[in-house]
Amino acid sequence: MFTAEPHPAASAENNRLAAVMARAWRAQGWEQVTLRRYDVLHSRPRSVTLEMTAPASFKASLREDPYDRDPDTRNPAIDGAYFGYSVSGDVTAALVYAHSGNPEDYALLRKNGISVKGKVVIVRYSNPYSYRGFKALVAEREGAAALLIYSDPAEDGYARGKVFPDGPWGPESHIQHGAITYDYIVPGDPTTPGWASVPGAKHIDPKQARSLPSIMALPLSWRDAKPLLENMNGAEVPPEWRGALPITYRFNGAVVVHVHADMDTSIQPYTVVEARIRGSELPDQWVLVGNHRDAWVYGGVDPVSGTAAMLELTRSLGELKRRGLRPRRTIVVCSWDGEEYALTGSTEWGEQFSADLKRKLVAYLNVDEAVAGAATTAGAEGLSFEPSAVASLAPMLLEASKSVRAPSGKSLYEAWRATAMRDKKLAAPPPDSGLVETRIGSGSDHTVFLNHLGRPVINLGFTGDYGVYHSAYDDHFWMTTIGDPSFAYHLALTRIWGLVALRLANSDILPFDFEANGAALQGFLADLERADKIDPARLSLARLADRIASFTAAGEQLRALTLHDLAAGSASAQQIRRLNDRLLEVESNWLDPDGIPGRPWFQHVLYAARYTYDHLEFPGLTEAVEATDWSRAAAQAQVLDAAFLKNTELLQSAAAEWRGGR
Ligand SMILES: [Zn+2]
Repeated sequence: MFTAEPHPAASAENNRLAAVMARAWRAQGWEQVTLRRYDVLHSRPRSVTLEMTAPASFKASLREDPYDRDPDTRNPAIDGAYFGYSVSGDVTAALVYAHSGNPEDYALLRKNGISVKGKVVIVRYSNPYSYRGFKALVAEREGAAALLIYSDPAEDGYARGKVFPDGPWGPESHIQHGAITYDYIVPGDPTTPGWASVPGAKHIDPKQARSLPSIMALPLSWRDAKPLLENMNGAEVPPEWRGALPITYRFNGAVVVHVHADMDTSIQPYTVVEARIRGSELPDQWVLVGNHRDAWVYGGVDPVSGTAAMLELTRSLGELKRRGLRPRRTIVVCSWDGEEYALTGSTEWGEQFSADLKRKLVAYLNVDEAVAGAATTAGAEGLSFEPSAVASLAPMLLEASKSVRAPSGKSLYEAWRATAMRDKKLAAPPPDSGLVETRIGSGSDHTVFLNHLGRPVINLGFTGDYGVYHSAYDDHFWMTTIGDPSFAYHLALTRIWGLVALRLANSDILPFDFEANGAALQGFLADLERADKIDPARLSLARLADRIASFTAAGEQLRALTLHDLAAGSASAQQIRRLNDRLLEVESNWLDPDGIPGRPWFQHVLYAARYTYDHLEFPGLTEAVEATDWSRAAAQAQVLDAAFLKNTELLQSAAAEWRGGR
């Protein structure tokens, strides 16, 4: 149902699916089913063209080929190539190849005497990976006139294995659609930074919007990129810049291209669908589950594998409620819109309800791509379970995984250990503390809850061979013949998602482990000290290390004390209630209302994302150290000192209160 038609944000089909979702949730017994509308600055193409005018003439198709085996690929509703929030423009200029489009690539071009000013730049999607909106910002800063990003078969095509429709990798014409928003500066509607785009809200002039690019950009298949690259006649690139095409990769020379984009950038309605099952005892503590609804095309993996899991989860929770098993805390579910543009729906919803969420939200459990991998090529151990979580929730997630069966027949915990060992090429399974990824980047709907509102988050999903990300081939055929034909991984994902939600909703004492949290943070600090070779004469992190150690010890003491009394059956309801209120405050104390330097929307002092979308720990401090700005680094270390002190005192006073309540 959800992969029947293309359904990008603001399309009639995606809005129709909002109503479908609302009907489904009502039928499943969910309460207060509500459609929340946001009027946001949207971006879609009117006409986009690309041609080579010299040394030969060639017109790029900018389309993905149909295949008889998959009739969905013939749908005329499939869009051609465009990037969300590309500017409109028309330019004819020489073409330069800039590898992956990261700053060091332009540095190498400069070393070779090549400027990209006023030129059209062509780059690959990954190797190393960086978010396409980062490549756009770098190209813009370098003065390029336009940016083309193509999918080299080295990364997601034939060099990796069999291609669609015979295998999971991208065929010659596949296009990775996407947006190039600078949402690592501020996500959501670019014209309402920090407040919600409810109907009638004030919008800033798009020219003032920090998250809007000012460069024209287009995605390309390798089939459209190849004639451009192979007609160059300049110097050969170094080996690490070569991809898997059977051509000589060169920096530049001879090739002139004409790029044209006419974009409709206008206010359009987005819809977040929201529903809840009211908690029987603690209705004002919320566990939130969510997944985005909009897809670049059909979204077989991204996001409908998550949508399918979410609908099965809501069906199951509705059935429990019907049987009289209402959760103790309220479970809220949301179907986000416009995630693909700028994490927009979740950001606007989070901003609209920020006061409630800061007080009531126990945790947000996000599933974007539930099954982003091919079970049919995954081998005996199967797809990799690759969740990420704030470190305080990692032990609970591990514990829950022991109660879920993986498709291989093992417990999910054992399957997880086996695939982690395989993927990391280890001789033995990693320790439990190394299983959960506690470094959290951006790129999905957890961002507003963690980074702006200071609430704990978990992301769940399976991964494996998957080369059709954001293309028209990410569809029902891919999932049912190549990805997860038995839907066994979808079921396993639904079970771990539901179990974690129910443990959070029903636990006596909220399952936050601040000892594990502190241990992970000690690791982050050690990484920072190792990576950046901090000169102790300029910056001492000794006090911060002491503060983290005290926080860890306070977490350990509180846990031992409360577990002891719980096991002895001597904990009173009042003691527990008081403790839970305290535990909920810890994550909020990681917020700095000033935000991290240069990005005030990002307020969490432990977690942010880099401009590349990569994870970034102690963001204010780390960025200052990387910029060798030692006075800013000292100030940011002090912000961290204060936050750790506050949370250590909080845990210590919670322990004292607990003892006093005995
Ligand atoms: Zn997604």
